[in-house]
Formats: sequence, structure tokens, C-alpha cells
Amino acid sequence: MKINTKMIHAGAEPDPSTGAIMTPIYQTSTYVQEAPGVNKGYEYARSQNPTRFALERAMAEIENGKFGLVFASGVAATDAVIKLLQPGDEVIAANDMYGGTYRLFTKVFEKFGIVFHYVNMQQAENIKPWINSKTKLIWLETPTNPLMNITDVAAVAAIAKPNNTLVCVDNTFASPYLQNPLDLGADIVMHSATKYLGGHSDVIQGSLVVNDQSLRDQLYFIQKSSGAVPGPQDCFLVLRGIKTLHVRMQRHCENGEKIAKYLRSNTKVARVYWPGFEDHPNHEIAKRQMSYFGGMISFELKDDSDAETRRVLSSTKLFSLAESLGGVESLINHPASMTHASIPKAERIKNGLKDSLIRLSVGIEDAEDLIADLEQAIG
Ligand SMILES: *Cc1c(COP(=O)(O)O)cnc(C)c1O
Repeated sequence: MKINTKMIHAGAEPDPSTGAIMTPIYQTSTYVQEAPGVNKGYEYARSQNPTRFALERAMAEIENGKFGLVFASGVAATDAVIKLLQPGDEVIAANDMYGGTYRLFTKVFEKFGIVFHYVNMQQAENIKPWINSKTKLIWLETPTNPLMNITDVAAVAAIAKPNNTLVCVDNTFASPYLQNPLDLGADIVMHSATKYLGGHSDVIQGSLVVNDQSLRDQLYFIQKSSGAVPGPQDCFLVLRGIKTLHVRMQRHCENGEKIAKYLRSNTKVARVYWPGFEDHPNHEIAKRQMSYFGGMISFELKDDSDAETRRVLSSTKLFSLAESLGGVESLINHPASMTHASIPKAERIKNGLKDSLIRLSVGIEDAEDLIADLEQAIG
């Protein structure tokens, strides 16, 4: 099945009790049993819910995987992956990633004896010196949030495999429409479904997709034991979001390209971060592993003073100043004080995230209106 058809039909089966074409919101906590232990496969909604199962099937299909698992948030999905590990196990994580992931690793899991090494993964070989018998997981994002760095997933997987190290890719920025990490050799793909999958800034959710049955069973055990499951209404919203993911992503990408090129032509802009530029350091890898370059762009102004950065952030009218991304409406964000404030300043600067960086989530409005808005704000 081709990708556009898949987005519409993934996970969808008419409801067995009524034939409803849309999976109903099964707003129930429990299921009536005919006799003790005799039931229809549904016992308690933390473990089983038909709306959630429909979404988990859909997630697996659109990521070209076998099994999907959905969680109450993106970080809850990440949390479940780390709970596969034991004290003393080591994780190689990208040095440039979502601030909340960094916070979860450093502030929550380090104290349980999991050891994290943060490595620049723009060159896959950089992970080699860190691999040893205790290395159980490699965690990466591509493109990264917010610097739009690209990691070669296939190259990382090739280094990890001989050591039996799992590779988990946070695929939130690309979405399953642009990039499928399992096809590139990753073992787990993670999403903040809050972003492009939901697509309408109205739900918090996360997901994991895997191919391996035993990995799925371990993650399902963690999902029901730790209990960070999403409610059925939220599952319904993401199921609905997936049905338009392909058309939304296409427009996000087209608008993203126009805006990246406009920003580069603006003489007040010092630097634009977008993997579609031929001179982006990993453009060739982006071209190979993604089908288009996405709607996320970051930039810095030539006047990199706090005052000027803040003035621009507060001057847009169509771009709303807010955290998050991937919704139909355009957003502008200041990573240093908003999405990435949980990373200490020294660490941020070391990894290239300046206080003057501005991040855009380009929506699906008319590109001309968005460019006019940036033009009046930047001046
Ligand atoms: C938002 C985000 C997360 C966290 O997801 P939540 O749904 O907010 O818990 C993880 N990774 C990336 C890249 C994100 O943008």
C-alpha cells in the first residue's frame, strides 16, 4: 500500500458491534466478564482499550513496523524505553536533543544508576569510542530540536548492531510521512504524537513502534505496569490526525522551504538552520533518509542582542509565541528560555544553542502571509 492510502486506512476496521466506520471512543474503565476469567479479551482499560488498540495498529502501519504502543505523552514513551534498562547500563544519547528528554535522563534516571553519555552524532563514528559491553541503548533525534542537525540512522544502526545495542530514534520532527527509522535499521521509533501526528495542538500523547515481538512484550508490560496510558478521547484525536498527516506534512514542507529561503535572503538574518539547504553539513544524508525537509526552521539575527531577539519574538502576529510544534498554525519559540530552558546554559552554548536562536514551527497557512508577518517583525 502506498503512503497516502496507508494514512487513511491504517488501523481502521469497522467497529465490530455496530459497523461504525470511525473507531468509537470507548470511554470505559472496565469490561463485564461472563464468568471469572471468561471475557472478550478486554479486562481493564489500563491494559486494553479498543480505541487505543486501533491507534496502536495505525502507528505500526504508518511507521512500517509490526507493533505500536501509545502513551500519555512523548516523555512517557521515552520513560518506558529507559525502563527496559538496569542500573549500570549505559546509554549513548545525542548531545543535541529535546530539553525534556535531557531532563528525564539527567534528573530522573541517572539517580537509578543508568549512565548517559552525550555525544555529537552528526558523525556516526563519534559513537564508536563510547560503545562497550554495558552499552544497551543509543538514543537520537533527527532532525534535532532545535538545531536541525541530521544523524545518519543507518550508519548508527550498523555500529550498534554487532554490540546488540538497541537504537531508538525520536522521529517527532520528521513524522512517519517523511522518515521511517525502522526501515533504516533502528529498533524503536518514538514520537511525541502531540506534534505532527495529532497536528491540531489539542492533545498530549506519545508512541513507540517496534518490529521485535519480545521488545514489544517488554514495552507492553512496562506500559500497563507503569500505567502512563492515554485516554480513549486522545487516541481518537490522534487517529483522526493521522488521516490528514500526508496532506498537512506536504504543505508544512512546502511552506518551510519558502520560509527558509526567504529568511536566508533577509539581510538582517545571520544564519538559517534547515536541512534542505545544499550547504547544510548533512544535507546529503537528509536527502537520503527523508522524503522532504519538514516545517521546522531555526534562525539567528545579525543583531544577536537579547533585546532584539525578544523584540522579534514579540512582534509576529500570525506566528504565535508558544512552545510545541507540528500544529496547523504557525508558532515562534525561543528555545533558550522556553523549550530548552531545562538544559543548563553552559551545556546549551557548548552544543551550539545560542540565546539568540529563534525556532519556527511553520504551519499550513499561505506562505505569502507567513513571510509578510516575518518581514514586518524582523523589519
Ligand atoms: C515535544 C517533544 C517531546 C516530548 O513530547 P511530549 O508529548 O511533550 O511529552 C520529545 N521529543 C521531541 C523532539 C519533542 O519535540
